[in-house]
Amino acid sequence: MSFVTRFAPSPTGPLHLGHAFSAMLAHDRAKAEGGIFLLRIDDLDRTRCRPDWEAQIFDDLGWLGLDWPKPVMRQSDRLPRYREALETLWNQRLIYHCSCTRADIRAAASAPQEGAPLHGPDGVIYPGTCRPETPPTGPMPEGAVLRLDMARACEVADTALFYMEKGEKSSIEDMPRTVGDVVLARRDMGASYHLSVVLDDADQGITHVIRGEDLAPATQIHILLQRLLGLPTPAYEHHRLIRDETGKRLAKRDDARAIATWRDSGAAPQDIRALVGL
Ligand code: GLU
Repeated sequence: MSFVTRFAPSPTGPLHLGHAFSAMLAHDRAKAEGGIFLLRIDDLDRTRCRPDWEAQIFDDLGWLGLDWPKPVMRQSDRLPRYREALETLWNQRLIYHCSCTRADIRAAASAPQEGAPLHGPDGVIYPGTCRPETPPTGPMPEGAVLRLDMARACEVADTALFYMEKGEKSSIEDMPRTVGDVVLARRDMGASYHLSVVLDDADQGITHVIRGEDLAPATQIHILLQRLLGLPTPAYEHHRLIRDETGKRLAKRDDARAIATWRDSGAAPQDIRALVGL
């Protein structure tokens, strides 16, 4: 099969027009290409995910006319897989244990001599406080925050240019400065978004990732992780975001724009398509 794509919502709130747009776009493309559309549940954050939101996702997507093979992949079932990949990176001496709190990072990143803190795809760029001089050896710590040593990772990744979108070139030499040491294992959930999404896409045989342009800056991290872990790189397409009348992108707490609210007020699936310009 040469075209496999997916929609990977987190069940932390109701689906809104932006999610519907993303899901319909991916679904329509898969149908047009004679490919497969998969649904994946990104439920690593056990404190924020709820089964009733998940049920609502299935219900709303079905109502929109989408279908997908079942059973669906759930991230919460995949912790051993994430762990295995972390062990691989640990054994390559590319990740290290970080004990900084968010407040520590903010304080270190904005120390007066450093100027204003630099921001990357994950917010404030980690100032490297816990990064060891020589990469750690011994067993990988359990339940710890683990960060990628970006400079070392870029050295071993053995690739020059690896990301180009809309004429914007992202080159590996810049990543230590523009992205920094991203988190790959979170204390509370075992894996971070970057690690889990890369492994899930690879294990599901995803050939095309179609997602919002808010995630475009993360794509260079995903491609780097694919290189480090020996995984294939899918094609990436980042679509426009659906915004409210003030130009703000929609958030989960925007109940007024939830698909469920449109359904309750008598809208038909075609109305949702028209609202997002499909
Ligand atoms: N669960 C992620 C989100 O909703 C998926 C991101 C992705 O498609 O890579 O933002």
